[in-house]
Amino acid sequence: MVTHRPRVGILALQGDVREHARVFAQMDADVHLVRRPEDLAVVDGLVIPGGESSVIDKLARAFGMRESIRAAIAGGLPVYGTCAGMILLADRLENPIAGQQTFGGLDVTVRRNAFGGQVDSFEVALEVPVLGAPPVHAAFIRAPVVEEHGRGVEPLAALDDGRIVAVRQGPILATAFHPEVSGETRFHALFLDALRAR
Ligand code: GLN
Repeated sequence: MVTHRPRVGILALQGDVREHARVFAQMDADVHLVRRPEDLAVVDGLVIPGGESSVIDKLARAFGMRESIRAAIAGGLPVYGTCAGMILLADRLENPIAGQQTFGGLDVTVRRNAFGGQVDSFEVALEVPVLGAPPVHAAFIRAPVVEEHGRGVEPLAALDDGRIVAVRQGPILATAFHPEVSGETRFHALFLDALRAR
């Protein structure tokens, strides 16, 4: 059990780091920006933000972060990935760019840019049973979807056409959309629950 005020790490190589930090600032958690392997040692959980998954992948390798992040995930560190973060957590990518790698940990196959480009971004009211009412106001920005998942993966939300856009596997949480940009705090609260339970 984590008994101190939880220390949330946000992987701060690229992407919407500030938006996540702003959400946690309203909650009972301290934020640490994670840029070096040693930063991981002091956090109780890690957020992988939205952004561009291939860029975060490249920077993580350039900064010597990739193996430390993989080891932390394998060691059971609670992790929450949004959009590009979901892509980076996927064990398998349907359509990686050449040479693109993921950290993995989540037994899913993810398709990047599943809805088209930036102009095909959209917002929907999404039912998320684990969060109850009201529905989540979900912003999809060049968003991925989960095409296939293993038995240990719990789908948390799907679009009307059945495509899965939020999942959980033990302490790993991932959403294809961005609660951090729409004022939604319940996924971050769910992540903090996993973090406190550790
Ligand atoms: N399409 C982006 C990628 O491949 C993700 C977009 C986002 O995080 N908003 O990483």
